[in-house]
Amino acid sequence: MSMGSSAASKISRRNLGRSIFPLLSQAVPKPIAVVGNPFQSAGMIRPLLRTLALAAFLTFGAGASAQVQTPEKVPFVLKEVGPGVYAAIDGPHHEAGSNAGFVIGDDGVLVIDAFFNIDAARALVREIHRLTPKPIRYVVNTHYHADHTGGDQALRDAGAIINAHRNVGGWVRTNNINLFGDRITPELKAKIEALPLPDLVTDKDLTVWLGSRKVVVRTVLGHTGGDLTILVPDAKALFTGDMLWRKVPPNLIDGSVHEWVATDADFAAMPDAEHMTYVPGHGDVAKLNDVKDFRQYLIDLERLVSEGRKRGLKDDSLAQEVTPKLKALHPDWTISDRAASFEIRYMDQELAGTKQRPIAQPD
Ligand SMILES: [Zn+2]
Repeated sequence: MSMGSSAASKISRRNLGRSIFPLLSQAVPKPIAVVGNPFQSAGMIRPLLRTLALAAFLTFGAGASAQVQTPEKVPFVLKEVGPGVYAAIDGPHHEAGSNAGFVIGDDGVLVIDAFFNIDAARALVREIHRLTPKPIRYVVNTHYHADHTGGDQALRDAGAIINAHRNVGGWVRTNNINLFGDRITPELKAKIEALPLPDLVTDKDLTVWLGSRKVVVRTVLGHTGGDLTILVPDAKALFTGDMLWRKVPPNLIDGSVHEWVATDADFAAMPDAEHMTYVPGHGDVAKLNDVKDFRQYLIDLERLVSEGRKRGLKDDSLAQEVTPKLKALHPDWTISDRAASFEIRYMDQELAGTKQRPIAQPD
């Protein structure tokens, strides 16, 4: 592709510099091994309750998610968040690279995101086949970032049509390289340049019918400029992609905090939000209070950076001022100094009007 010389690519290379993708970068240097479910031997699995109607009522009626026993060792924890609706939550060592999920309908399965690690995506396919004989018909990428699209080929090999926002096709093989900065390796570059392009793209909301089961794909603003969410109304479940992170700082590299805060306000204002389950892009299954907590983090970040800027602080001095305050306001989050420094830098750029984002792509 010729996108390597696009404005978006130049912007990314210039502005993003070194290690701009902390979570993903951590996952890059070594091949990712498929490791055991850390909870499997800890007696935390609800033993097969989901097979019983009464148990299903108790489980979902309480708004909880039921952890699913996976006979195979997999690099994610599978949780049934509603009848036939599963979240695949990345393990504690981030072997999968992000969260994913799937919805089993009357006549097929729709998968949400494909992890970074293609072996994790293959394991997800096996788990789906173990749970249902229905065909995997779609994978919907919530956005182009490689930690959500890296395993797309495994889903395509399983029969899925790859669906994404219309901008994803122009970004997935180019901007993902820039995300790694100088941590890119020849192997990783080759992998990214060979990522599948989406088969079906949209810049409008879509309704997907899995038989009688309705799934709503919505375009939203904030994380990359090409973001989708996936709502399963009958299960009160929303797969947010990276519009929501739970108790960890988000990747703001391509984002607009201004837009992001508005989108998360919409999440919190959904009908019956108190009973919704939100599956974030990173972090564990979330509820309404987590959406509010995450949104507040973004608001706090913007306020603290804005206050520092008014005092004339910039770069390292701004980070040194804001980081401890941000941690103090969110003591139950995992916020590394490194992650905070990226958050503050990107927020500073946005407030200065110099933040440059990927450029919308023509079809
Ligand atoms: Zn992302």
